[in-house]
Amino acid sequence: MTVLACDLGGTRMKLGVVRDGRVLAQTTEPSNSKVGLALGLPVVKAAWLRLLGELGLSSEACAGISVAFPSLIDVPSGRVLAEYGKFADAMELDLRAWGKREFNLPLAIENDARMALIGEWKHGAGRGSDNVVMMTLGTGLGTAAVIEGRVLRGKHGQAGVLGGHSTVRYGGRACSCGNLGCAEAEASTAFLSEVAAALPDWNSSTLAKLPTLNYAAVFEQAAAGDPCAQQLQEHSLRVWSTLAVNLIHAYDPEIVIIGGGIMASADVILPAVRDYVSRHAHTPWGKVRVVASELGDTAALVAGEWLLGEQFPK
Ligand SMILES: [Zn+2]
Repeated sequence: MTVLACDLGGTRMKLGVVRDGRVLAQTTEPSNSKVGLALGLPVVKAAWLRLLGELGLSSEACAGISVAFPSLIDVPSGRVLAEYGKFADAMELDLRAWGKREFNLPLAIENDARMALIGEWKHGAGRGSDNVVMMTLGTGLGTAAVIEGRVLRGKHGQAGVLGGHSTVRYGGRACSCGNLGCAEAEASTAFLSEVAAALPDWNSSTLAKLPTLNYAAVFEQAAAGDPCAQQLQEHSLRVWSTLAVNLIHAYDPEIVIIGGGIMASADVILPAVRDYVSRHAHTPWGKVRVVASELGDTAALVAGEWLLGEQFPK
């Protein structure tokens, strides 16, 4: 099955043509998510037509369109249910009608973290298991769960994907979701500056002099001996480890997959989370495997075939 796939992120749109779990061609465009999605759709269309041209394919050869979107989705209707500061107009758009009009193809849409997990489950680090959870460490903390071979969705599309908003610190920092002490509010790129500035050593830290603060810099400066960076690293590793234990206790998986841009520092993150999980997760049956994403950026793209097959069965 050949699919036109996209993963609409807050800063970048990843666009690809996928088939049999492989990306045949892909490109990236700025998403301008603050401006909205309506202005981005012609860019998406042009990119797909260019990729199809490069492959010598036409859209008639495709079975459908898949969209990984950074929000809660009502899967039966294909509508976006909420807005999180990105693509504010998406709730008003009928993407299925757009897909029909522009390509004459069915369009399937799902939450981006769930799509990343579906990709890893079918073609990557979760292959061969029917009980897998994933956490994506990036601007926010995305999570998703596949349990007993089913993608968990729940009544309102929330099941599994709000792990980043599970409480890891009682009475902690106010999160954008309304809760206090969420994992995302304690250790994500979106909250990194706020968390860092509250540390006592902040003003004397090398990190305070950087034009932009990100986790790559935190890990680099921690290795170089900066006390503030070391505190931030330790705090973040504990938050992500706690989140992993929360996911294990909530869903009973046999594999926890960790992905996202911050996993560029997997050499530091994986051993720390594995150690914490082996000491603190209650799994009398054995050990949960904690592994890195295999597909990285392409996981949410290659999930498109499965999603279309599920939503538009032949
Ligand atoms: Zn939250």
